[in-house]
Parts: sequence; C-alpha cells; structure tokens
Amino acid sequence: TALTVWKVADKRKIYMADLESAVLYSLRIEAAVFPNLEGERLSALKDFVSVLVQHFAGQLVVKNYLYNLDLWLRPKTIVLQSEWEEALKNKKEFPNATLPERPQWVGCQGSKPQFRGFPCGLWTLFHHLTVQAACQKQSVSSGIPEVLPTMRGYIRNFFGCRMCAEHFEAMAAESMHEVQNRDEAVLWLWSRHNRVNARLAGTATDDPKFPKIQWPPKSFCPSCHYTSTDSSLQDGKKSMWDENRVLMFLKWHFSEKNIYMNSPL
Ligand code: FAD
Repeated sequence: TALTVWKVADKRKIYMADLESAVLYSLRIEAAVFPNLEGERLSALKDFVSVLVQHFAGQLVVKNYLYNLDLWLRPKTIVLQSEWEEALKNKKEFPNATLPERPQWVGCQGSKPQFRGFPCGLWTLFHHLTVQAACQKQSVSSGIPEVLPTMRGYIRNFFGCRMCAEHFEAMAAESMHEVQNRDEAVLWLWSRHNRVNARLAGTATDDPKFPKIQWPPKSFCPSCHYTSTDSSLQDGKKSMWDENRVLMFLKWHFSEKNIYMNSPL
C-alpha cells in the first residue's frame, strides 16, 4: 500500500489538486452511485457540469474533458449508471481531454484519513466558482445556470453527507433567494460557511490540526476585521466584518491567480 506523504500546504493558497480532486470525486464517486440519473437529479448534474465548464479555471486538459462531458450529457433525458461510468472514463482517442484518476488532497489533506478531503475540496471548489462567476462579464440572462442554485442542487441530490445536506438546504431555503447579484453570492457562501464552522468548532469532525475558525483570520486579512464600540457589551467592543474588504479578499483568495498548480513535496 502506498504511503500518504504529509504535504505542508500554504493555507493562503488554493491548490489545483484539491479543485480537480473535488471535481473527480463528485462526478466519479458521488454521482456514480445511482442506478440511473433522471428528473431533478439529472438536471442538477447538468447544471453542475455546465457551471464547471463555464467557470472552473482548470487546466486545459480538464476543461476539455468537462466540455466533452457537457456536450454528451446535455441532450440526455435518462442516463444509466453504466453509461455514466463509461462517459467519465479517460479515452485514448482524446488524450487532450482527461481528468486525474485518483483524488489527491493537498490544501485539503487531513491529519488523519477521516478528516477533511472531499468536503473541504467541495467548499473550496464552490467558493472558487462563485468568485469566478462574479469576475466574469457575461449577463445573468446568458442561460448559464447560476452558481449558488447549482450548488444547492448538487448538495441536495448528491452530497453523501446527508446531515450536511439537510443543514445546507435549511440555510438555502432561509435566505438564498435574497441574493441579488454575483458579489452577494460570493458573500452569502462565505457567511454560511462561517456559520457551519461555528457550529462544528470543537466537535468530533474537527481536525485538531485544522481547527474551525471564523475565516479569514486577522492574520490573512487585517482589514476584513474591525472593532465596533457597543455600549451594551461588557467590554464595549465587538469584532465585526468589513464586508467590502471581505469580498475583495475572497475575490483574490479564490481567484485563478492564487491557484497553485503543483503540490508541495
Ligand atoms: P472546511 O470547512 O471544509 O473549509 C475548507 C477551507 O475553506 C478551509 O481550509 C479554509 O481555507 C476555507 N474556509 C473556511 N471557512 C471559510 C469561509 N467562511 N469562507 C471561505 N472559505 C473558507 N460537517 C458536519 O459535521 N456537519 C455539517 O452539517 C456539515 N455541513 C456541510 C455542508 C456543506 C455544504 C459542506 C461542503 C460540508 C459540510 N460539512 C459538515 C463538512 C465540514 O464543513 C468541513 O468541510 C469538514 O469538516 C472539513 O473541514 P476543514 O477543516 O477541511 O475546512
């Protein structure tokens, strides 16, 4: 058995290996457990693949792979499990359109196998997609699905952690409809992720080497935080977010420019 090498990742960077691994895990594992795909579940999958084609800043070979998959999938009304597995295989005749065979977690590597990995990769991927969409110019009426409803559909129909999916669906049902534009979508996902972090901090799912914090910490983005004076509080001070600064930070952190292509070894 291969030894998993501990890689020291830079927490200020995004690793392409994590994004690609989240894509391959979602398509080849989570979407591949159903005897067939049809109806709402198939639509959710089509939206997910379209959003990836549109916004994922992947390497060219991966973008080509997703493009081919999207073309194949779009006209389908039902997809059998065997057809889906076949469609996902890397094909000899398309050497320039491939997805890695196995997930490799770098920024999302846990200190033990039960920690981090895919859920971390999936958050990272969807933050990246909301940021890419907010930084692109095409209009909302372009026919391309919006990232947040697509994420909601993915989580509801495919995410293996059903308890997580229920929590996420509750947050989505409560306020996702209030999101007015793509900048707000970036901030909505950030603030909901922080709610999840707050709920999970100190619980058994928390990797002790990667404690759940309200993110980004001051050390990453000092100007994202400010202290307001509030006379109703005992010490009169309350830590607040400057959401404009947070948005700027997220647009940098999850952008193409901050993706590290190679794994540290
Ligand atoms: P993660 O929370 O996975 O975060 C990944 C990376 O994103 C972090 O390392 C950090 O760099 C960055 N980050 C952290 N916070 C933010 C933020 N607010 N905005 C932007 N980037 C941020 N687990 C449960 O036990 N119960 C649940 O109900 C649950 N619900 C989930 C719902 C969804 C939609 C997803 C994708 C996962 C859910 N999980 C849940 C899993 C859990 O949230 C973590 O993904 C998992 O515990 C791994 O944590 P992590 O330390 O790798 O960091």
